[in-house]
Amino acid sequence: MPVAAKEIRLAERPRGWPTDETFAFAEVELPAPGPGEVLVRNTFMSVDPYMRGRMNDVKSYTPPYELGKALEGGAIGEVVESGVDGVSPGELVLHGLGWRSHTLTKQFTRLTPIEGVSPSHFLGALGMPALTAYVGLLDIAALKPGETVFVSGAAGAVGSLAGQIAKLKGAGRVIGSAGSADKVAHLTGKLGFDAAFNYRDGNVTELLTAAAPDGIDVYFDNVGGDHLEAAIWAMNDYGRVAACGSISGYNEEKRPPGPRNMFQVVTKRLTVRGFIILDHGDRFRAMIDEVGAWLAGGELVAEETFVDGLENAPAAFLGMLRGENTGKMVVRL
Ligand code: NDP
Repeated sequence: MPVAAKEIRLAERPRGWPTDETFAFAEVELPAPGPGEVLVRNTFMSVDPYMRGRMNDVKSYTPPYELGKALEGGAIGEVVESGVDGVSPGELVLHGLGWRSHTLTKQFTRLTPIEGVSPSHFLGALGMPALTAYVGLLDIAALKPGETVFVSGAAGAVGSLAGQIAKLKGAGRVIGSAGSADKVAHLTGKLGFDAAFNYRDGNVTELLTAAAPDGIDVYFDNVGGDHLEAAIWAMNDYGRVAACGSISGYNEEKRPPGPRNMFQVVTKRLTVRGFIILDHGDRFRAMIDEVGAWLAGGELVAEETFVDGLENAPAAFLGMLRGENTGKMVVRL
């Protein structure tokens, strides 16, 4: 049976911060699924920083969103009607066509619900952000037990998991930075970080040096800019940077200057290594086994911030970019 679906489209490419004019709401009629397709009613959708990059018309590791077309992103939903043998209505699936109430798709992953665990975690602590934290820390930065780790954006989806995984993997000291006093208290309280600071309280290099008097060995960089410069100052010899993101610059029309102390990469023999998680799908199974066990055993806290309603997805996206989330920002449909 045809379904009236709602979707959110890219109305114009933002310069600087996205605004209400960036998004347009539309209704479309979806036909019954053809062979190999499923019709899905979305129940949770993800808003992620990379989506801001895809709004720009520039060449990157994923193509830009098309003007006038529906946005895309990770989503969880229930199969309403199936054109795939063996897939039944009611099944839970993960796919890449969020920003809409329903979708028709051939590309989806069947999910096995976990008792007591919200399916929304497949967008966070059991999904792409968790894999990013896991691979960035363990493979890219090659964390060793006893080392001191600094994580920026530490109260967000990736950062909160990176810090906790560091502790679980035997880091000696884990330091986090975030943008409010409440988030700092959350890091050192519920999430078990050894130290944390609010980067809005002053010069990041001074704040980090005070929190890490013996220097740092690993920096998990979600923020770039002043945080990366501070981390390079604080690095011990042979330190490693997992260059994951640079959110301090995503909405700036004029990109902030890069770190002024790059020569320390030479003198301290540092490794700065960027990565894109799409290249690391082979580590998904290992991540799910390990992180899933920590989650089930209560050793890892997976915080989520929910915003309700597809109509509020743009506000959720902007709120995430501004720091309104603790843990993973998820839109509940
Ligand atoms: P988060 O859940 O961390 O949300 C974004 C957070 O960024 C906000 O909550 C806000 O927290 C912080 N922030 C916003 N502006 C600034 C700023 N100017 N300076 C410092 N912090 C800021 O998002 P994710 O966990 O999904 O993503 C974190 C990072 O990881 C991003 O840079 C993202 O691009 C990157 N990433 C990279 C991947 C890869 O494959 N390399 C994959 C997934 C994510 P606060 O209140 O603390 O300011």
